[in-house]
Order: sequence, then C-alpha cells, then structure tokens
Amino acid sequence: MKILFYSTKEYELNYLESANTTGFTVTFVKQPLNLSTVKLALGFDTISIFTADDASAPVIEELKKEGVKFIAARSAGYDNIDIKKANELKIPVANVPEYSPYSIAEHAVAMMLALNRKLIVSNRQVTTHNFTIDKLIGFDLNKKTVGIIGTGRIGKIVAKILYGFGCTILAHDINPDEQLKENYKVKYVDLETLASSSEIITIHTPLNVETRYLINEEVIKKMKKGIMLINTSRGAIVSTPDIIKYIENGHIGYYGMDVYEYEKGIFFYDHSHEPINDPLLDKLMGFQNVLITPHQAFATKEALTNIAATTFYNIQCWMNRSSSKNELVAP
Ligand code: NAD
Repeated sequence: MKILFYSTKEYELNYLESANTTGFTVTFVKQPLNLSTVKLALGFDTISIFTADDASAPVIEELKKEGVKFIAARSAGYDNIDIKKANELKIPVANVPEYSPYSIAEHAVAMMLALNRKLIVSNRQVTTHNFTIDKLIGFDLNKKTVGIIGTGRIGKIVAKILYGFGCTILAHDINPDEQLKENYKVKYVDLETLASSSEIITIHTPLNVETRYLINEEVIKKMKKGIMLINTSRGAIVSTPDIIKYIENGHIGYYGMDVYEYEKGIFFYDHSHEPINDPLLDKLMGFQNVLITPHQAFATKEALTNIAATTFYNIQCWMNRSSSKNELVAP
C-alpha cells in the first residue's frame, strides 16, 4: 500500500509518522492537490489531503486516471471535496469527523476573551512601556447572551464552556439537541431572533449550499450594535465584504476569524518574505477590533494525534475491505 500525503506541513509530520504503525509506504509532499499536481498521485493507491486541497470533480476525474482508489481527508470539514463525483467514480472518501472538538471550541472562546479583554492591544502597548489601561476596558461574560449557530460536536462544547461562564445561551440549528436544552438551558430560536438578541455570536455549522454567506448584510443589520462575531468554521459562511462594511461603520464591535473565504495558499504558509496581495485581508488586518488566526483552531497535540490515528484507521479499514464509519456519502 502506497500513500501520498498532499499539503504536508512541518507540524504534522511527527504525528503522521508515529501513527503509521502498520508500516505503509508513505510519501509526504508539500504541494497542495490541484489540477497541476494531480500527476504526483501516479502509482499511489491512496492519497491524503487537507482543507485547502482542491478535490473538485475535475481533479477527482484525474485522480481516477492516475489509479487512486481511496481518499483519506485529514480534516472534519470536506467542503473542498466533491463527494458526489468520488462516489460516482467509486473512490471512497473518509474524513476525521471528530478529533478534538474541544480544540476548536476552546479556540473560539479564546478569541472571545482575547477580543473582549483586548489582550493583543494590551500586550502591544506593554511592550512599548505603556502601562495605562484606558483603552483596555472589556465586559463581563457573566449574564451576557451568546448565540451559537450550529450545535454539533463543536458548538455543544462551546455551549458547555459558556454556560460555565454564566452566559445565557441561544442556539440556531436545523437539528436541535434536546440534551443541551436540559443541561445548559440552551434555547433554540430562529436565526433572526438569535441575531437580534445576542451580544456574542459564534459560528459552528459546516459550509454547504445552505450556509454559504449565511451571515450577510441582511442578518448583520439585525444584530445588536457592537456585536462580537466569531468564525472558526469556514470563511465563506460569512460575506467578508459585508463584515468589513459593518466593522467600518461601527455596527460590528469585534470580529474574530480563524478562517477566511480566500485563505487557500495564504493560511498555513509563511509569506513574511513575499507579502500577499489581498486587499480584503489587508483591510481586516488593519482593524484593532479584528483578531485573525490562520486556521489554527484545530492545532492541539491531542487533535493532531487523533487526526493522524484516524487517517491511518480509515486507510486500514479500506484496505481490509471493511468500510470505515467515516466514509462519506453524498446526500
Ligand atoms: P457537526 O457536523 O458535528 O455540527 C454541525 C452542526 O451544524 C450540526 O448540528 C448541524 O445540524 C448544523 N447545521 C448544518 N446546517 C445548518 C444550517 N443550515 N443552519 C443551522 N445549523 C446547521 O460539525 P462540527 O464537528 O461541530 O464542525 C463544524 C464545522 O467546524 C466543520 O464543518 C468545519 O467547517 C469547522 N471546523 C473548523 C476547524 C478549524 O480548525 N477552524 C476544525 C474543524 C472543523
């Protein structure tokens, strides 16, 4: 069994090597999967890809021609993979649905705290020997209303953490979770009510046709002035130009983003020596009340250990012809 790992990053190499307990022949390349790198897959039974790899229908067709028989995604989200095309061409695809929902949930809450308590501004100030606190006033999270959009694996942990802070929790989900109502007094409401009643809104839905640009001008206008919005889910769930417009006019008070619609080729790479040309991102980076992290919410030791283990488990299941519970089927 020969496996080609696309988009391999330094931070994951040790985890992947340690998880290869069966001794598969593995090749790691830095290049992302796309139409121009698909040829690298020639001679490999399996490829493994990550969130910024392009596994759209034309790429999957080419992978089929190169003889690839299985795709192991090293991520939970799979909006970059045309599952329908893969199913049609009988190339099974498996993801890692749950590696540590805590890692992402805790990062979302870390962003809320860092923005609210102005930790980045504070640290920057202190390093210039400015120890005043006039610009560092935050608010108590206790008794504030937080709206969680998507209460699946990650959203429900956010609910649990914020319940501990003493927050009132509203949620919006196409599949409400009865236990959350019971355990953390979560109240399910429609998106409009969530938007107009929350002081903080955090997004935890997958990106799909229904959620693309779910947070747009119309919804933002319904939010309270000064709203804190956190997106650790996928960039295209929000309309970035609309977000910028409402940060500029002061309606959005804080924006925390771990994901960005146009992050491909930018996030995960060191561009310090060849500055990127992205006017939208430049604008976002210029706001004091915007906190940007480069898709790092999942990056904990526990998550990386589990991602590597499940990736090899999925490959092993496919090799043993016992379909893994993580195989994806198009709706
Ligand atoms: P999940 O599938 O467990 O939960 C998603 C929830 O969203 C479900 O409860 C579902 O019912 C709900 N939902 C789906 N469509 C909806 C809609 N139109 N309106 C309202 N609710 C809707 O997923 P999860 O494990 O909690 O992950 C959520 C997302 O987080 C992933 O899809 C991925 O995009 C993102 N993610 C980001 C990182 C990161 O590092 N930043 C890491 C992992 C996952």
